[in-house]
Amino acid sequence: MINVLIFGPPGSGKGTQSVKLAEKFNLTHLSTGDMLRAEIAAGTKLGKKMSSIMSKGELVPDEVVIAMIAAKIDSTKDARGFLYDGFPRTVAQTRALERMLNERRMKIDSMLVLEVDHDELVKRLAGRAELSDRPDDKDTEVIENRIEVYKEKTEPIINYCRKRGIYQPVDGMGTVEDIFVRLSYHIKKLK
Ligand code: ADP
Repeated sequence: MINVLIFGPPGSGKGTQSVKLAEKFNLTHLSTGDMLRAEIAAGTKLGKKMSSIMSKGELVPDEVVIAMIAAKIDSTKDARGFLYDGFPRTVAQTRALERMLNERRMKIDSMLVLEVDHDELVKRLAGRAELSDRPDDKDTEVIENRIEVYKEKTEPIINYCRKRGIYQPVDGMGTVEDIFVRLSYHIKKLK
């Protein structure tokens, strides 16, 4: 089984690309953002607790998302592998994922990092704000905080993965299809 991380700042296109890649390569798409939003939509106790954190653009506690991912990995049978979108978001989450995979005789095979110019990110997020029903996409201050949180807490994972030889930058500019072709090229190599 292969384990691939799709990485990049808010607005870099991880979600869009992950859905397409999961289908093409028969991978299970694991998006902690989607899982958390499902908890909120279902009105669970956890969802209620997490929604105020998410609406500020802050990260939910590591142990919450780590438990969600572990449960999904163990309940998925017969997958060709997993595509992680929006997880890990801290170095602690990365270490926990490595440990989890290790215990199951797997590893992180590749970290594909979408690189997008700052101006383009702001443009895409503003466009998404118009269409989105996500409260964290509506407020400019919250969007800016999410970019800050990314720089401070999430970006350090790049160095961590670079040292492990799994870091792969990918040009995230251009059409959805162009970017899909570039990402596909790297996943194909892992087979
Ligand atoms: P985007 O990719 O647009 O930044 P996501 O849908 O991945 O957003 O996540 C939305 C929000 O959910 C985040 O801002 C954060 O509050 C929470 N969240 C999602 N994944 C994680 C995670 N791995 N660790 C902590 N918080 C998370």
